[in-house]
Amino acid sequence: MSLSPAEYTGFSVLDILTGLDCRDFTARDVAKAAIATIESLEAEHVGAFISLTPEMALKAAGNVDGTCVSGASPFEAGLLAGVPIGYKDNMNLLGSRTTCASRMMENYESMVNATCVSKTLAAGALPMGKTNLDEFAFGSSTETSAFKTTHNPWDLTRVPGGSSGGSAAAVASGMLTVALGSDTGGSIRQPASFCGVVGFKPTYGVVSRYGVVAFGSSLDQVGPFGRSVADVALTTDAMCGHDVRDSTSQNIDPTYYKSVLAGQREGIKGMRVGVVSEYLNAPGVTAEVTAAFKEALQRVEDLGAHIVELELPHAKAALSAYYVIGPCEAFSNLSRFDSIRYGYCVPDATTMTEQYERSRAEGFGPEVIRRILLGTYLLSSGVYDTYYYPAQQVRTLITQDYHSAFEQVDVLLTPTSPRTAFAVGEVSDPTTMYLSDIFTIPINIAGNGGLSLPIGLGLDSGMPVGLQIIGPQFKDSNIMRVAAALEATYDIPRLAPLVQELSNTPGGDAR
Ligand code: GLN
Repeated sequence: MSLSPAEYTGFSVLDILTGLDCRDFTARDVAKAAIATIESLEAEHVGAFISLTPEMALKAAGNVDGTCVSGASPFEAGLLAGVPIGYKDNMNLLGSRTTCASRMMENYESMVNATCVSKTLAAGALPMGKTNLDEFAFGSSTETSAFKTTHNPWDLTRVPGGSSGGSAAAVASGMLTVALGSDTGGSIRQPASFCGVVGFKPTYGVVSRYGVVAFGSSLDQVGPFGRSVADVALTTDAMCGHDVRDSTSQNIDPTYYKSVLAGQREGIKGMRVGVVSEYLNAPGVTAEVTAAFKEALQRVEDLGAHIVELELPHAKAALSAYYVIGPCEAFSNLSRFDSIRYGYCVPDATTMTEQYERSRAEGFGPEVIRRILLGTYLLSSGVYDTYYYPAQQVRTLITQDYHSAFEQVDVLLTPTSPRTAFAVGEVSDPTTMYLSDIFTIPINIAGNGGLSLPIGLGLDSGMPVGLQIIGPQFKDSNIMRVAAALEATYDIPRLAPLVQELSNTPGGDAR
């Protein structure tokens, strides 16, 4: 038995579990098909991976097959038995490097697995490799990676979004079934939107951050990408819950998939869905995004939910608060890369000061340096009271806005990003880049969960548009329910057309 890439790329998590259960194929067949797909799409087209781990995947597949051969059902082997997965390269996977897409960490190998990695591996997932990102996860296009540019599989001249652009592009092109990303200000949801896949940032505290290289510790959260809401729910179920190594992680029941089933079976009739009136006419939101968003609202109403218009009076200050709090936390977290304990070290420094200075200047790229300098300045004495302290006060006000909003509604809807994927090299000004996260950043500031659901292709660009579904803190079940019900009303491709196109091109056979 063997699986062709064309069959494999169409599989959901449940297709794989069911296929294994029915003995239609083995986990090794799935691993081999994933490897073949990556071979045909990765190097010349998408560029989603920093490193590949095919041997690890085949070994993990052998273990899953061993469990199944002994008579157990794959469902007993784990929620992700035989499912090809990729990890953003700021997550530690034993036996691979964790580069953070930075020269600073080019040769770093951790001695532990991140908890999100060990839990998904324990659930039977097949680790295919480490995916590309903006350096240290600072960015919205994956262009600041020190190693490569990742291309959007819907249009290879465009960016996949960021910072978890490699994970999003790998899932959209069918190379992976699911992938993990981290989201500090939108880095799962925005690339999911740009690449037309589902991306989910759970409520802060649902997934342990242990073993994930820290950016902004009060904002960072790990989450999955998949081609369906069910796939991201199953992946979240596999990795959520308390971890003694991350004191911010909470005891969470793995009931995400159950909420998806509830959404599919019972719908969302009678649910209250909030819309922020101001966002509908916000500057910078393109006409095609507004059109797709309005159509989604219509569908929500057709499903019997009630639209409630409301205000989040302080949310407009979220971007400003984020660009104070984020760089301050990043400055503090990145101080460990001092060329002595961790990180790149110039070989020929003659004094310790020179070693520090030159290693950091050469090891970090320009966006990382910009954030470190900003954080250093913002936390310096005298300046702290002017920026950092007020930013924390603003954060409290924004959080309260969301608490009040969720007294009136069950979920909130916004576009995920004001526009669809831009061209590689098109956005060079950092402020314009920062604005692509205006709808996602407030959610990290407040700590709530948010999911990006594909809602079709933009009428002008032809590129995917995403809808952001936000829930009350620790009630991500509302998000899953609405996402599943709404997803069922759309008949849109789950996979970028790239796979089919390449198989029709002479010499470019994707099979
Ligand atoms: N684009 C945002 C930033 O550059 C968010 C990044 C992220 O979520 N990791 O800070």
